Amino acid sequence: MCLVLLTGGAAAQNPTSGQRVHRLLIHNATVIDGNGTPASGPKDILIEDNTIADVIALDPVSLARDGARGGARNGPAPDAVIDATGKYVLPGLINAHAHLQEERGGKPQPIEYELDLWLACGITTIRDVGSDTRRALELRQQSAAGKIAAPRIFVYPMFGRPKDAQAATAHVRELKQMGADGIKILGIDRDTMEAMEKEAHTLGLRIAHHAGVEETNAWDDIRFGTTSIEHWYGIPDAAIPAGVQDFPASYNYNNETDRFRYAGHLWREADPERLTAVLKGMVDAHVAWDPTLDIYEASRDLQRAQTQPWFAEYLHPTLEEYFRPNPSNHGSYFIGWTSTDETYWKENYRIWMAALRQFDRLGGLIGMGDDAGFIYQMYGFGFIRNFELYQEAGFHPIRIIQDATGNNAKILGQENRLGRVRAGWAADLIVVNGNPLVNFKVLYPTGVDEIRGGKTVHTGGVEWTIKDGIPYHAPELLAKVKQMVAQARQHSTN
Ligand SMILES: [Zn+2]
Repeated sequence: MCLVLLTGGAAAQNPTSGQRVHRLLIHNATVIDGNGTPASGPKDILIEDNTIADVIALDPVSLARDGARGGARNGPAPDAVIDATGKYVLPGLINAHAHLQEERGGKPQPIEYELDLWLACGITTIRDVGSDTRRALELRQQSAAGKIAAPRIFVYPMFGRPKDAQAATAHVRELKQMGADGIKILGIDRDTMEAMEKEAHTLGLRIAHHAGVEETNAWDDIRFGTTSIEHWYGIPDAAIPAGVQDFPASYNYNNETDRFRYAGHLWREADPERLTAVLKGMVDAHVAWDPTLDIYEASRDLQRAQTQPWFAEYLHPTLEEYFRPNPSNHGSYFIGWTSTDETYWKENYRIWMAALRQFDRLGGLIGMGDDAGFIYQMYGFGFIRNFELYQEAGFHPIRIIQDATGNNAKILGQENRLGRVRAGWAADLIVVNGNPLVNFKVLYPTGVDEIRGGKTVHTGGVEWTIKDGIPYHAPELLAKVKQMVAQARQHSTN
């Protein structure tokens, strides 16, 4: 047990995982805030109950002289201390595109599997964009009350397809009454979209739009005031000169192999000038973009997606079965997937990533979400994969951390409470073993190997995920998931 000597000589212990104390001190941390500013430290972060009470810059000179006695402050000794010497503290990660899932393909999967993985990956908030709404509201309440180990939950129910504008308006009111935080739309007609957005704005509900290949596109989001476009369809669609993608005559949208194969041809058909106008339009209308880069990656590199190292011990058999190519499961479309498909998709990613950077340069708000539980992406791990993909797109690591924290807080309308390491903000923080600005792979809970003094050392991973002031020891959560998976595998092979 690590003991840290504090001002006044009192010794305080590490916190117990899952138990909030009145005063929790994170000592001697290097901090990366969620507002796009560089790392700074050493700092002490004092948490009181569920709020960041103070962020104190330590004097490096006195720290060197007195060891851990730097950062002297007035006030009572903390009840627990996390020694963050050599570690990095970030705001808790916010997953802007999540689905609460207790089943895959009709087979049960324990909710703890997903919740524990999210926390182990440093995710302290999720925006649920479509699940069992009543269950999601119940989990939101239990999480807020600290009754379950879970991120904060914002519920954006899937809107469905109302038959007319009147029905759309009525359905928005109904969802507001149920307690929804926002609404997710997908595959909607223009008149019902206009009506539902109007009512949602009146009632203060935000809107996430998974623009499919449908009647509406990004211009409708711009016109009607969508909060965020999910994924990417609808943006290149709005920039195709012919008005419709050059689909082969045999194309059927409901055939997912067709759908995802030709989605790989979509970005190349967008006219660059028109695309710039669309992106500018989004910026001017404050439409954010949550691209979920991770979730299509199997399309450009199927073998990579199918052989991710954490599958060995952490892939639940229910999810494993769901991922197998099967036309009846959404996203499991890899039947006859070819090197030609992958080549189109590699180009698709290049144009998409360039569009994201252009959107950023124009002043657009970019968030981050993983859409895990589909297409070989595991909860949490898929989210961390986004950091690497944003880096591949050319973004500075500091900006990427901002996308995953402060920017996502803005998308949720929670920027005065979440996404920052700042006094007065909610105590949602992560303590990371290593510097994510050097290597985002340190965020994977399974860690990384480093060479130190000629020896291989296993390090990395999130050490503590603090949500609403409750510290969770991430390695313990991960161990629990491992056991859960081992047990489920035993049962599934019997
Ligand atoms: Zn989704």
